Amino acid sequence: MRKILIVGAGQSGLQLALGLQTQGYEVTLMSNRTADEIRSGRVMSTQCMFHTALQHERDLQLNFWESQAPRIEALGVSVAAPDSSRAIDWVGRLDGYAQSVDQRVKMAGWMETFAQRGGQLVIHGAAVSDLDFFARTYDLVMVSAGKGELVSMFGRDAARSPFTVPQRALAVAYVHGMGVRPEHPDFDAVRCNLVPGVGELFVMPTFTNSGRADILFWEGIPGGPLDAFQGIKDPSEHLALTLELMEKFTPWEYARATKVELTDAGGTLAGRYTPTVRNPVGRLPGGGLVLGVADVVVANDPITGQGSNSASKCAAAYLGSIVERGDQPFDEAWMQQTFDRYWETAQHVTKWTNAMLGVPPEHVLNLIGAGGQLQPVADRFANGFNNPADFENFFYEPDKTNAYLASVAGA
Ligand SMILES: Cc1cc2nc3c(=O)[nH]c(=O)nc-3n(C[C@H](O)[C@H](O)[C@H](O)COP(=O)(O)OP(=O)(O)OC[C@H]3O[C@@H](n4cnc5c(N)ncnc54)[C@H](O)[C@@H]3O)c2cc1C
Repeated sequence: MRKILIVGAGQSGLQLALGLQTQGYEVTLMSNRTADEIRSGRVMSTQCMFHTALQHERDLQLNFWESQAPRIEALGVSVAAPDSSRAIDWVGRLDGYAQSVDQRVKMAGWMETFAQRGGQLVIHGAAVSDLDFFARTYDLVMVSAGKGELVSMFGRDAARSPFTVPQRALAVAYVHGMGVRPEHPDFDAVRCNLVPGVGELFVMPTFTNSGRADILFWEGIPGGPLDAFQGIKDPSEHLALTLELMEKFTPWEYARATKVELTDAGGTLAGRYTPTVRNPVGRLPGGGLVLGVADVVVANDPITGQGSNSASKCAAAYLGSIVERGDQPFDEAWMQQTFDRYWETAQHVTKWTNAMLGVPPEHVLNLIGAGGQLQPVADRFANGFNNPADFENFFYEPDKTNAYLASVAGA
C-alpha cells in the first residue's frame, strides 16, 4: 500500500492520518509532542467548529466527544456603545449545532487512537533536513505543522495575503464558573461582542480535561487597550486582566464572569500572527516536493473562528484527492490541483475573515444592526459561520446587502 508521511498532529494532520489509515494507507505521523504532553500542556485555540466541519469528523467516526461537549445552538452579536451599553444585541439560531472540544483533549485522544490502530507515530520535531530524507522514502509527504517554522518552505502568496503584520493581539482564558446570559438561559451560544475601534470579546462553552468550561477570548487591535497581555507569564494575572477589560468594555459579559476560576494552569494563551496564504507546494533542498495542509497554507485570523473548521474541510478535501489518485504519482500538478480544490472553500473564509478585520462599511453596519429587528437576518449571519461562501450573496456589496434587507423586510 502507498506510504504517506504527515508532519504535525493537529486538527488537519490527525484527521488526515486517521482517515487514510481507515482507507488502508501506510501512514507515519510525526508530532513534536507526545499525547500526554499535549493533554497536560497549554491551550492552543478556542476551536469552535460548526456543522459542516463536525460532519467530516462524524463521517470518519472521530466524534468521540460529541455527547459530552456542550451543543452550541446559536451565535449572538453584541456591539458596545461608547458608554459601554449595548447598541446592538441579537442571537441567530444555527441550523446545525456547533461544538468546541479543547484541542488538548481531542488531539491527545486522536493520537492515541491512531497508534492503537497500528499507525506509526514518531515523536520528533521535524526539520527541513529530515523531510529532505523522507521525501525519497514516502510516496507523499504532507506538512500540517500549523504556523510553526516549517511554513518557511512554502512561499507567501502575496496576491492572496493583504497583511504583512498581525491584525489582532490574542488573549484566551479557559474558566469554570461562568454564569448564563440571563436573556437566554436555555441554550448555549457563541457570543461575539464587538467593541468598535478596540477589538472583540468572544465567549463560548467548551469541553476540556475537567469537563464543561467557558472560554473568554479577547481579540485586541494592536496598540490599543486590549493589546496588554504580552509578557504576562502568571495565568492568574492573565485572567485578572481579562476580567478587568471585560468590566470596562463589555460589562454585560463581566456580570456573569464574577465567580470564574481558571480551569488549570495551562488554561491561558496570548500571542499574535499575520494572516498569510502560501503556495501549497514546498520544494526541498534535495528536489523533493511536499504538500502544505490547512494553517500551513491558509492561516486566517481567528476573529471568525474558522481555522479548525478550515482544517477539517482541508483534510476532507485532501483525503478525497488522495484516494481518487489511486496508484498515480503525487506529482506537483496533482498537489496544486489538490490545494485548488480546497481553495474553492478556503477563499471564502479568507475573504470574509479579512473583511471582518477592517472597519465595517456602512452597509455592513446596517446589516448587523438589522439582525436585531429581523430574525432571518440574524439567523443567516449566524449560519454564515458554517458556510462563509454565503456571505457573497449579501455581505460585501452594498447593492446586494440592501436588496437582501429589503427582501427580508418586505417578507
Ligand atoms: C486564540 C485562537 C483561537 C482560535 N479559535 C478558533 C475557533 O474558535 N474556531 C476555529 O475553527 N479555529 C480557531 N482557531 C484556529 C485553529 O485553532 C487553527 O486554525 C487550527 O488548529 C489549525 O489546524 P492545523 O491542523 O493546520 O494546525 P495545528 O492545529 O496548529 O496543528 C499543528 C501541529 O503540528 C505540530 N508541529 C509544529 N511544528 C512541528 C514540527 N516541526 N514537527 C512536528 N510537529 C510539529 C504542532 O505542535 C501542532 O500539534 C483559533 C486559533 C487561535 C490561535
